[in-house]
Amino acid sequence: MLSAPPSRVAIIGAGLSGLTLAIALHRQGIACHLYELRDPTTSTSGALMLSPNALRILDTLGLYKQLSSQGYNFETIAFKNSEEVTTDRYYLGNEKLYQYKALRVYRQVLLTELRAMVDQLHIPVTYGLKFSHIISEDDNGVSFAFVDGSRASADILVGADGIHSTVRKYVAPGVEPKYSGQVAITCAIQKSKIIPEGVDYDMPVAIHGKHGAFVMAPQDIDGSEVLAGTQRAWPEQDRAGWDALLADKEKLLALFRTNIEDWPATAQTALNNVPENTLSIWPYYVVPKLERWYSPGKRVIILGDAAHAIPPTAGQGASQGFEDSFTLAAILPQLGANLPLDTALVYWKDMRQERVDKVIALTLQLNNSRLPQAEREKLEKDGKAWQSGDAGELGWLYNALVEEDVLAWVKTKTKVARTCPVDWITSKLVG
Ligand SMILES: Cc1cc2nc3c(=O)[nH]c(=O)nc-3n(C[C@H](O)[C@H](O)[C@H](O)COP(=O)(O)OP(=O)(O)OC[C@H]3O[C@@H](n4cnc5c(N)ncnc54)[C@H](O)[C@@H]3O)c2cc1C
Repeated sequence: MLSAPPSRVAIIGAGLSGLTLAIALHRQGIACHLYELRDPTTSTSGALMLSPNALRILDTLGLYKQLSSQGYNFETIAFKNSEEVTTDRYYLGNEKLYQYKALRVYRQVLLTELRAMVDQLHIPVTYGLKFSHIISEDDNGVSFAFVDGSRASADILVGADGIHSTVRKYVAPGVEPKYSGQVAITCAIQKSKIIPEGVDYDMPVAIHGKHGAFVMAPQDIDGSEVLAGTQRAWPEQDRAGWDALLADKEKLLALFRTNIEDWPATAQTALNNVPENTLSIWPYYVVPKLERWYSPGKRVIILGDAAHAIPPTAGQGASQGFEDSFTLAAILPQLGANLPLDTALVYWKDMRQERVDKVIALTLQLNNSRLPQAEREKLEKDGKAWQSGDAGELGWLYNALVEEDVLAWVKTKTKVARTCPVDWITSKLVG
């Protein structure tokens, strides 16, 4: 059993969680190697909503300033009723309450900044290599293979390979992502096509209509481009089926516009101005709750979407991946005689699962607030649909100091916890 910090960590997947883990491990003085199946030139579309818990981690890693200047900074999403009257607000960020505004930023910008830092730190990344399977794990480490037949080894392997994770097949055999029955249909549209010049209209917004919610969220720096979308019940497809639906813009547009006359005026205007080439889909899959996020031999770990892909309504998918990576990187350098890997991993997984469970519960409440009116009102009475309460009520989520929590726990086991150098960013990037 490993009872010293690992000196070689392999990370499968250079997505948001994998890149963050690599930077966070480097900050802790632990060497790692990233393996990514895609080419670095592959570009990704769409934007992400990031809340203070994610932004605090990115800030600690020296990435916040350049990201916030490239995205749309805001505080709340307004909930409007079918008369387009604002009935409630949900805080996705707030400087006074949670230290940071929320940030909506293109995924490509986020990946580019994370990759740039990985390069600056000289962290090795092998692109175009697809992980295939674990060959063996024992007290000396883990060896693994790629689809092209090549092999590698490490003290620990971390699968940050997303919702359809191959590493998870080893950690939790037989567990597959489950389709929720809902697919989001979205488009990117100029705000000026929806809201007349000079009219002040709250955005981001979720308009709660007869058939659910129509969401509009600005996604570029000045808020002039808006993501507009809603979700529909749709039968599960295989990969080819989803690709075919995405390619059939006419069918997608018709689906997007189903019952158009039932939406309030602003949603109708958006639906009448959809730029077809920007139509996109997002079928909601979730990963069932896993018993473990690590293998019996503890040398293989999964995190991010590979461990817990969650529904999107609270905008916490990527943020929980950041937290997983940041906390795992905090705990690994603390391994020692009083803190072997198995004890550390049991604590880490339980602590992470508890937070993910709370996020899932919050997400369900938010989902319920987007249901058709009659169902929503019943659930509101039962306290099962989200309604705002006291100022700062999301402090448990946004103000959590997850690294400090890990170090406090480590101290109970080892009496002292090693902290990472305060001037880490300056020394590594300027030096
Ligand atoms: C349309 C959409 C909108 C979203 N909006 C938000 C939002 O607003 N806020 C939010 O917090 N979250 C959002 N999410 C969720 C968020 O994108 C995910 O939670 C996040 O990307 C998970 O990061 P990850 O690194 O764990 O996995 P991924 O981002 O899926 O990265 C996995 C990486 O592993 C690589 N990989 C996979 N298999 C292998 C293999 N066998 N070998 C080598 N490499 C491999 C992949 O190429 C990829 O680069 C959204 C998701 C979607 C689809």
